[in-house]
Amino acid sequence: MMSVIEPKIADYERADINAHVARLLRDLGNPEPPLRLEIVRELQELDLTYYSKSDLNLLDEMAHRAKMAGHKISSTAKSMREVVNGFRLKGLLMLKEGDKRIFIDDDVVSLKRRFVIAHEILHDLLPWHRSLLIGDNESTLNPTFHQAMEAEANYGGRRLIFMGDQFQREALDCSFEWKTIAKFKERYGNTLTTTLWQMVCERDPEHPAFGLISRHPYHPDICPKAGNDNVAYFPRSRGLIERFPSLSHDIAFSAVVEHATRRKRGPVGEGESVFYDANGDAHLFEMYSFSNTYDLLTFGVYKAPYEPLSSIPRRAA
Ligand SMILES: [Zn+2]
Repeated sequence: MMSVIEPKIADYERADINAHVARLLRDLGNPEPPLRLEIVRELQELDLTYYSKSDLNLLDEMAHRAKMAGHKISSTAKSMREVVNGFRLKGLLMLKEGDKRIFIDDDVVSLKRRFVIAHEILHDLLPWHRSLLIGDNESTLNPTFHQAMEAEANYGGRRLIFMGDQFQREALDCSFEWKTIAKFKERYGNTLTTTLWQMVCERDPEHPAFGLISRHPYHPDICPKAGNDNVAYFPRSRGLIERFPSLSHDIAFSAVVEHATRRKRGPVGEGESVFYDANGDAHLFEMYSFSNTYDLLTFGVYKAPYEPLSSIPRRAA
């Protein structure tokens, strides 16, 4: 089972990650977006290899490197294939005699590779990650410790491909709406999912907002990665976590269902929903869902305290 919610990153680590990313961007001369990851890898002296799960020679090489890096992955290609398949491994950072190399599964579609590569770059960039060089997957390989590092590499990876503080500066000049997400997707050259995530968590971290990467209520074949659940990911701003601690991904998904139409592609639904804060007070959120046919992407953003005179039904939360 993968986790719908990423572990929280402490303020100290967050500031440390931000400083490392800012220094890297400065060393690159603070280029204009979209950030070319080739120039980052060049600076970091990181090579890149795409692997196919059917390439036994390469899996053997990866297994060899994993062994050199001190990991308890058995050194035969067959078991490396089991590791790659079993843990839904998408990327891997490995060292051998001064040669640093990122391995990326060639099944990962090209736009999505940016995030996977940025994630691996962060493992190399952050000194307290460098020694670990653990393979990456969508499931829980090791308990809490590995999960915390994964959350840090994800956070820093997004920070990198949205160019440090620049995304926030620009996003605060725009209103929180789908049009803005679509605009920043093009400007920074990342996926809609990653852009939605960044918008929810980093535009204004104190403002309550959440994202949902979920199934489509009328087309359950959309978002198979949600597994037995309806929701694959549930990014939340710091303000949402603090003020609406009981707003779960199940409650958020039921609001998605409330507004959803049967449209399979493009805008799927929008409207207002009521959620309860930590004091039990009701508040209105603006909701918007969009289907890219792979996933249903939704944001909910705080609007105002709920005035009971309007006729919105109460939600048990
Ligand atoms: Zn990782």
